[in-house]
Amino acid sequence: MGDSQERPVTAAGSAVGTVTLVGGGPGDVDLLTVAAVSALRTADVVLYDRLAPHDDLRRLAPGAELVDVGKRPGHHTRSQSEIEAEIVARARAGQHVVRLKGGDPYVFGRGAEEAATCRAAGIPVRVVPGITSAVAVPAAAGIPVTFRELSRMFTVVSGHAPLSAEELEHLAGLGRTGGTIVVLMGVLNLGQITQGLVAHGLPVETQVGIVERGCTPQQRTTLATLGTVLEVAARAQVRSPAVIVVGAVVSLAHDPSSPEAPR
Ligand code: SAH
Repeated sequence: MGDSQERPVTAAGSAVGTVTLVGGGPGDVDLLTVAAVSALRTADVVLYDRLAPHDDLRRLAPGAELVDVGKRPGHHTRSQSEIEAEIVARARAGQHVVRLKGGDPYVFGRGAEEAATCRAAGIPVRVVPGITSAVAVPAAAGIPVTFRELSRMFTVVSGHAPLSAEELEHLAGLGRTGGTIVVLMGVLNLGQITQGLVAHGLPVETQVGIVERGCTPQQRTTLATLGTVLEVAARAQVRSPAVIVVGAVVSLAHDPSSPEAPR
């Protein structure tokens, strides 16, 4: 954290607080960085998301007020602008605000927007990167996003909204050249995405792995192909949060809890 003597002051002459935007990793508290742990230790308030590791916050942030600003489908929660207003208001009141997000704050996390809002308000903001679920969750299921001779590139795409024909064309091309496709927020649009990839030329036999609640005790992996995944996922009742991986690297998946594959 910055030296308080260097901090900007408000019109009233009191010190402005600071904001630390922290990537919390994919869910396991052991995957927090040292920088994340030290920011939490000095926090006056922690505003945390649903996917950030929050079970241990009482211990990790003993001096902080803990505020759940998580967005849950179907529940009324704070809007993005309300969250940003709260960050700014608390920092203006002199607090060290930790904004704890799942994974990395700059991967589909709106972290850059929050950092820009703080800077525009004249509040010192530091960003602590986190381990993104896009890489760590497949890995926790034994799936490397790259593997010599199977895949030497990967793309991470948001499946939050249906993919455009252009995006599907691009991803199918990536898949045809041996690249791995990693989809976040894709469970609801699984059919549109997988059928779209087939329509744009990926073979129905292409392997698909879906890893739910990765890096937590509830982790579960469902394996299928582009041709079977809709039926297999429906039968298994696959739910968000999940990372969907498409490509040959899925063949390397293994159950991390099996005795021959210790973590
Ligand atoms: N900033 C985050 C991603 C936010 S988008 C990161 O870098 O990881 C939220 C999506 O991330 C979820 O819908 C899901 O696709 C994925 N996700 C995050 N944590 C996950 C977890 N523990 N297991 C499976 N998927 C996860």
